[in-house]
Amino acid sequence: MYPVLSPSGSVEALAVYSRNITEQKRLAAELQQHTARLEEMVEERTVQLRRAKDQIEIILNNIRDAVALAQPNGDIRTANPAFEALFGSHISQSIERILEAIGSDEHIVMVGSALIQAMQLQEQQHIEARITSTDGSSKDVDLTFIPVQLADETGQPGILVSAHDITHLKEIERFKARFIADAVHDLATPISGLSTRLYLLKRSPEKLDEHMRALENQVEHLRNLLADLRTLSQLDRGQLTLNLQTCDLNQIARRVFDTYEPVAITKQQTLKLDAEPSLPEVQLDRRQIERVLVNLVANAINYTPTGKSILMQTRIEAACVIFGVTDEGIGIAAEELPYIFDRFYRTDRARQTQAGGTGLGLAIVREIMDLHGGTVIVTSEPGRGSTFSISLPIHRPASAE
Ligand code: ADP
Repeated sequence: MYPVLSPSGSVEALAVYSRNITEQKRLAAELQQHTARLEEMVEERTVQLRRAKDQIEIILNNIRDAVALAQPNGDIRTANPAFEALFGSHISQSIERILEAIGSDEHIVMVGSALIQAMQLQEQQHIEARITSTDGSSKDVDLTFIPVQLADETGQPGILVSAHDITHLKEIERFKARFIADAVHDLATPISGLSTRLYLLKRSPEKLDEHMRALENQVEHLRNLLADLRTLSQLDRGQLTLNLQTCDLNQIARRVFDTYEPVAITKQQTLKLDAEPSLPEVQLDRRQIERVLVNLVANAINYTPTGKSILMQTRIEAACVIFGVTDEGIGIAAEELPYIFDRFYRTDRARQTQAGGTGLGLAIVREIMDLHGGTVIVTSEPGRGSTFSISLPIHRPASAE
């Protein structure tokens, strides 16, 4: 509304002007609605992104593989805790930190060139290396370098590094290789013995008895080796299950004594059994424990010179029944003691004095005792003798059931 003036300047009339703003208002309301919806969507998206970021963080913080992301200049931008545990704190570190952890020069060169190739050729690289981790332990790792496009201002590709701990697999691989090499060696020895003896038999058939005895010994050795290998293979595959019964260990000790007394006598050794009369019965697999006792008593006889004594003993000690065998034999040097339960391990003195051993008996003894929830221990003094003792819990722990 505005005044209409006369030429003299007085107000002549009032003019009224009106405009339809309904459309404008509708548009404004619509705009407001859109803005609100947009804000809602941004908020929703932010929550989604935060959730996704949290989830990725949870995964990265908890996976056992070490993962790090490096910038084009090699600076590590982010690393998960597994990476830090393996290579140290990532802050202000370069990707070259990985090379510092590698022990051998040869591996440093290989890993270094894989890293350069990944950056230059933009191709994923994959390599195995042995490193010393921050806790000082040696580890085998499977390293992968993956070129990735980083969403940053440089526009240049970065490198995603992942390291997978394969120490355990490598150990199994090394163990398998050593086991096969040892088995081949231990099979080759009696087989070449057999061939030599057959050749000698052809050359001097008049000494038939002597050759036959030697051949029988070699065949016996091969048979024992095969039997031990079969048992270990069963143990490895979890196929040796115990047939537990409540038994008197004294009875088993007596049977083994009766079997081995004549053997000791032929070696002019004195074998004695000192059995605890009130030994409680325990849960055990009769066949397997007899095998353990046989192994220990046979070893005592084998590694003890003629004219000496061997004592088998049973007793009770700290909620366990114990069987021990003490000999006056060649003994075992302190530095060799930790290895005598390893497969194929034989001390130098044993190789010189007793050719026929397989080096598998004590490995089997230990595994059988483990299955029983028991233990086997040894004390020894070179030149004076050894004592091997097994202990079986009187009450089997629930965990061993
Ligand atoms: P082996 O068939 O050689 O006897 P074992 O596994 O039974 O294999 O024993 C491993 C090694 O432990 C033997 O080769 C020997 O060096 C040592 N050993 C075992 N028992 C005795 C013992 N009573 N006295 C001395 N050395 C022993």
